[in-house]
Amino acid sequence: MDFELNAEQKMFQRAVHDFCAGEIQPYAGEVDRTGEMRWEAIRRMPELGLTGLQVPEEYGGAGLDSISTAIAVEELGWACGSTGLSVTAHNGLCCGPITAWGTPEQKARYLPKLTSGTVLGSLALTEPGAGSDLAGGVQTSARRDGDSWVISGSKAWITNPRFSPVIVTLTRTDKATGTHGFSMLLVEPGSPGLTVHAPEKKMGLNGSPTQMLSFDEVRVPLDALLGEEGRGFQQTMQTLDNGRIGIGALCVGLARAAFEEAVKYARQRRAFGKPISEHQAIQWMLADAAMEIEAARLLVYQAAWLKDQGRPFGKMAAMAKLKASEVAEMVCRSAIQIHGSYGYSREFPVERIYRDQRLMTIGEGTSEIQRLVIARHVLREADSL
Ligand SMILES: Cc1cc2nc3c(=O)[nH]c(=O)nc-3n(C[C@H](O)[C@H](O)[C@H](O)COP(=O)(O)OP(=O)(O)OC[C@H]3O[C@@H](n4cnc5c(N)ncnc54)[C@H](O)[C@@H]3O)c2cc1C
Repeated sequence: MDFELNAEQKMFQRAVHDFCAGEIQPYAGEVDRTGEMRWEAIRRMPELGLTGLQVPEEYGGAGLDSISTAIAVEELGWACGSTGLSVTAHNGLCCGPITAWGTPEQKARYLPKLTSGTVLGSLALTEPGAGSDLAGGVQTSARRDGDSWVISGSKAWITNPRFSPVIVTLTRTDKATGTHGFSMLLVEPGSPGLTVHAPEKKMGLNGSPTQMLSFDEVRVPLDALLGEEGRGFQQTMQTLDNGRIGIGALCVGLARAAFEEAVKYARQRRAFGKPISEHQAIQWMLADAAMEIEAARLLVYQAAWLKDQGRPFGKMAAMAKLKASEVAEMVCRSAIQIHGSYGYSREFPVERIYRDQRLMTIGEGTSEIQRLVIARHVLREADSL
């Protein structure tokens, strides 16, 4: 396989990079400090298709391939972790399932709004008692009552609900049938009985709101069902496979940002009569960081390429997410080390980037769960030899 980007992808990469460098990256510190997203930038994102990366053009999206999507997400992550996470979740976790399984009416109702740059979408899987083990732990239930579904329960750690016109919500619609007893419902935040709680106070990603939701007998119409009844768990797994390519790309961007800061600082800072970039110990950290970023990006592109070929990509998406999130952690750690005390200070961006990347080995499946997914694939492959 040839990983050289085609001319169109290279042009898109340059355009997204320039936009991020001008509109997002200079404000990343302020977004972190104030906890407020920079909506001036998000409102301009439709010009480049960033709010509808893989949504068909008829609904206001860019209809891009998965490698171009990864390119865009890497640039967003490079510019600002908070903006990157919220926009990636919007694309992969909300626009993605509606594009994949929505009826023509559902797509027409939600996608033009979602791609408009005025909102960011949301997906609610996790609950206070269920994250890694959704199948065993999800309690939020939906029962049919006349012409409605009635939803009860709560969701936790949900990205973007305060910005979203619709929350794709995983519910249990049949307790008796195991993983075939789940369904996805499209819930509008204004629905009576739905409380969107105040944003959590987090270690990082402060501009990306993470909120708890309570559903107290929330009624939505029967046609709020997304896809087939009973397929919610399978839809969740497919959505997470896609989402992991996005988180992988986001991590490559975060790692690249920290790496660039480390190189810049290593050139300026002097110790023992020369720039620290001339000390071999620093060069080794930079060499390892550069190599690992390349390796992580290639895994992300490989997963994206497999997806675009219509080939199975779940194992590669888990590998890309696992590798890239661990690379982001390692590169950010080295970047702080290279900055010495200044790396531990809020004055330099590496401190924020370190806090932002820390989520990435946890969200959309922890590293332990990625290893479990990869191991299942490789053992199955070994059995079929
Ligand atoms: C900033 C942020 C944004 C988020 N956004 C969203 C969102 O938009 N939508 C959404 O639905 N969720 C979201 N989440 C939730 C996130 O996806 C979950 O927190 C994550 O999946 C882990 O679940 P948990 O926290 O319940 O951990 P747990 O499942 O309780 O796991 C705790 C620990 O046990 C380990 N563990 C669990 N099972 C196993 C096993 N079988 N083998 C080995 N180790 C195991 C885990 O790896 C972890 O180390 C977000 C979380 C954060 C912090």
